[in-house]
Amino acid sequence: MAKASVRKATFRIPCDIFWCNNPADYVIGNVEGPPSAELHICKSCLEGIAKTMPKELLPKVEVVKEVVKEEKPKKTTKKKKGGK
Ligand SMILES: [Zn+2]
Repeated sequence: MAKASVRKATFRIPCDIFWCNNPADYVIGNVEGPPSAELHICKSCLEGIAKTMPKELLPKVEVVKEVVKEEKPKKTTKKKKGGK
């Protein structure tokens, strides 16, 4: 099992990314480790990481094929009322 995880920051601390002065919104690290061994990161920087995440690291999502019933096109022909 992976030793690191991303979780919400519970206290106010600046983002650790170089030249970023935003307050950290998330904490990356080992839950069992000391806070000093964690990376504090703001939402913007974490989004940057997420956007540039190598394909092989993206979580594999099973695509569930939903059976979508095709909408029947509305009949444009007028219904004949009665038969007389
Ligand atoms: Zn940041």
